[in-house]
Amino acid sequence: MSQLEIDQLVSSLPKRIARLGELAYNLWWTWHPEAPKLFQRIHPVLWESVYHNPIKLLRQVPRKALAEAYQDSRFLEIYDRVVDEYTRYMNPSVNGNRPWFPQNHGQWDRPVAYFSFEFGLHESLPMYAGGLGVLAADHLKAASDLGLPMVGIGFLYLQGYFRQRITEDGWQEADFELLDFSQLPITRVNSSDGSPMLLPIDLLSRTIWVQVWKAQVGRVALYLMDTDVAQNAPQDRQLTYRLYSPDPDTRIAQEIVLGIGGVRALRALDIDPIVWHMNEGHPAFGTLERAREFIEAEHITFEQAKERVCQKTVFTTHTPVPAGNDAFAIWQIDKQLNGYWEKLNLTRDEFLALAEHNGSYGMTVLALRMSEKSNAVSELHGQVARKMWSWMYPGRETPISYITNGVHTRSWLSSRMRRLYDEYMGVGWINRTDDPATWAPVYEMPDDQLWDVHKHNKRRLAEFMRDRARTKWITHRQHPVQTIASGVLIDPNVLTIGFARRFATYKRAALILRDVERLLKIVNNPGRPVQILFAGKAHPNDEPGKLLIQQLYRLIKNADSAGRLVFIEDYDLNVARYLVRGVDVWLNTPRRPYEASGTSGMKAALNGALNFSVLDGWWREAYNGKNGWAIGDDNDFDDLEMQDRADTESIYSTLENEIVPLYYDVEYDNIPHKWLERVKESIATIVPRFSTRRMLKQYINEAYVPLATAGQSARAGESVAQTVPQDTK
Ligand SMILES: *Cc1c(COP(=O)(O)O)cnc(C)c1O
Repeated sequence: MSQLEIDQLVSSLPKRIARLGELAYNLWWTWHPEAPKLFQRIHPVLWESVYHNPIKLLRQVPRKALAEAYQDSRFLEIYDRVVDEYTRYMNPSVNGNRPWFPQNHGQWDRPVAYFSFEFGLHESLPMYAGGLGVLAADHLKAASDLGLPMVGIGFLYLQGYFRQRITEDGWQEADFELLDFSQLPITRVNSSDGSPMLLPIDLLSRTIWVQVWKAQVGRVALYLMDTDVAQNAPQDRQLTYRLYSPDPDTRIAQEIVLGIGGVRALRALDIDPIVWHMNEGHPAFGTLERAREFIEAEHITFEQAKERVCQKTVFTTHTPVPAGNDAFAIWQIDKQLNGYWEKLNLTRDEFLALAEHNGSYGMTVLALRMSEKSNAVSELHGQVARKMWSWMYPGRETPISYITNGVHTRSWLSSRMRRLYDEYMGVGWINRTDDPATWAPVYEMPDDQLWDVHKHNKRRLAEFMRDRARTKWITHRQHPVQTIASGVLIDPNVLTIGFARRFATYKRAALILRDVERLLKIVNNPGRPVQILFAGKAHPNDEPGKLLIQQLYRLIKNADSAGRLVFIEDYDLNVARYLVRGVDVWLNTPRRPYEASGTSGMKAALNGALNFSVLDGWWREAYNGKNGWAIGDDNDFDDLEMQDRADTESIYSTLENEIVPLYYDVEYDNIPHKWLERVKESIATIVPRFSTRRMLKQYINEAYVPLATAGQSARAGESVAQTVPQDTK
C-alpha cells in the first residue's frame, strides 16, 4: 500500500520534528488533547486559514516558522510527549498495556467491517451532514481506543457537504467547494503493481469503476471509495460528488457502489471481515453481493447463502422518519439491477419480494431481512422501530433491540475540563469513562474551580464568534447588521442557551418562536437576561427548512432582540465543539419520537452544560429530575397542534420559573452553587452512560462477539468458546 504521500511530507520537514508529517495523516491527532495545539503553535494564523488541516499547514508554512518551532524548547517538549504517546498508542502490544478488547476477547485476526454513507471525523474532512456521520466517526474512534479490529467503508465526496452562507435577508445559500484530495489526510490505495487500485462494478448496462483511498483513524483504517475516474461515463463520475443526492438515479447508484462496491473493495484489499455492520440501510445491497459470492463459490441455494450472510451481519436503524428510510421505485431496481438476480439464482419476483413494501424497494426492509442482529438507537426508538416493522414478522416478536448512542468523550471534552477531570477522577479515568463509579468524585469538585473552567469556555465561545464576525467584516462579505447577528454583542456573564442542529421539520426549531413577545421578555429581562445561540443547516432542497432559518434570522436581526439572539453560520464539527463547550443550557425540541437518539446534548453535558429537552431519544433515558429539565412529559397528544402549544408553554414557563432564577441565584461569591449541583449530577449520571465506550462495548458483547463465533463452534471447537466475554461491563 502506498505511503508515498506521507513519506513526501515527512521528508520535507526538519528532521527533529519530521514526525509531524506522520501525525498529520492519522486522525488520531484530532482527539488528542495536545496535538492540535502543536500544529496551531507553528503558525496560529495559518492554522485558522487552512481550517485546521495539518497537511495544508505543513505544506504552506514558511520555513522560518518551522525553524522557530524546532528551536522552541516548549514546542519540542509537547512534540516529544505527543509523538511518544502516539507511538505507544499505535503499538500497544510492545508496551504490554493491552487495550480492553484483546484483554477480554483475545486477538482477532479478522476485523469487523463498518459501512456508512457518511463519516464526521473532522472539519477538514467534510464528508458528513449531521448526527449519523458524527456517530459513525465516534464509533471508529472508540474501536481504535478499545483495540477492536475494525475497518470502515464509505465515500470520498469531491464536494463534501455544502458550506452554509446566510444572506442579509436570512436566506441560506449553499457553497459547494471542490476538495483537493492531495491536501486531505488520505492516501491512495494501490494494487500490487503500484498503479492506483481500480475496481469494476459490473451492472447489466455498464461497468462503474471505483478507486479507493484510505484514511487512518488511530488504529482503524477507513476506506473511501471514489468514482471520479476517467474510465467512467460522466454521470458515473459524478456519483461521489455529493452527499445525499436528491436525484433517485444517482442515489440508487451510490447505494449500489457503497454496498456492492464496498464488498469488492474489501476483497481486493484482501480483507475478510469476521462480522459486517451496516450503519443505516444505505449499504444493504452489500448483503446481496456477499450472498452472490457464496453461491458462486459453493453452488448453494440463495436461501442457504442468505442464512450464511445473515449469521454475520448487524444492522443499526437510525430513524423513524420516512425520508430517512430509503426506498426505490421498482422501475429503478429494474433499470439498475436487471440481471443481478440471476446471479443469485432468483427470479425478478423473488428478488423484489426481498424488500418490496407498499410498491417500492425498501433498503431498511432489505437490511432487516439480511441481518441476524438489528438494533435501534434508544429505548423509545426501539419500541417505535418494532412497531414500524412488525408487519415483516407476522405472528412473532419483531427482532429489533436497542443500543443507545454515545459520544467519543475525548473528542468532545474541552482541555480545561479534561484537566479538572484528571485532577478529581484520577489519571486514567478516560479508560474507565463508562464505569459509573469513576464519576463519584464529581460531587467533590469545588464549585469555584468548576465555574472557572466553565466561564473560561464561555469566553472562548464569545471570542470565536467575534473572530469569525471580524474576518467576515474585513472581507466585506457582510452587512453590518449581520455582524450583530453573528454574536458580537454576546456577554459571557449572561445565561446562554445553545440550539444547534439540522433544520429538519421534526426538530421543530420554530417552537420557541411561537410567542415572540414572551420570548423577548425572557431574553431582555433586566438584570437576568438570556442569550440564545442558533446554528444549523437545512438540506439545500428543503425549502420549508430554509424558510424557517429565514424566519428565525429576521427576528435575530431585529433590534428588539438586542443582539442576544444569534445565528452562527455553517454549523460543522468546529462550530459544534465551541458551542457544546461554551453554553450553559442545551435546548432540544424534537417532535417525539422522531429524534431516535440525538447526541449533541451528550457532548454538552460532558462539558458541564445542562440539557433542557423533549423526553425523546437518549434524554428520555438520561433525565432523572435533577440533572437538567424536561420539556413536556412522557405522553403524547394525538393532535400535533395541541402538542406544539403544550410544549411551547412548557419551554417558556420552565425558563421563566426554573432555569433563569436558578442560574442567577448567586450568593456572596457570585457563584451559582445550586446550578452547579445540577451540573455535577448531570456529569455523573450522563457521561459514563452516554459514551461510545459504553456503546461500543455493548455492540461487541451483544452483536460482534456472538456473530463472530456463530456457526464456528462446530468447526473450531473450544478455541472459540474461550474467547467469549468475561467482562460485560
Ligand atoms: C453531534 C453533531 C450532530 C448531531 O446532533 P443531534 O442534533 O443531537 O442529532 C450534528 N451535527 C454536528 C456538527 C454534530 O457535531
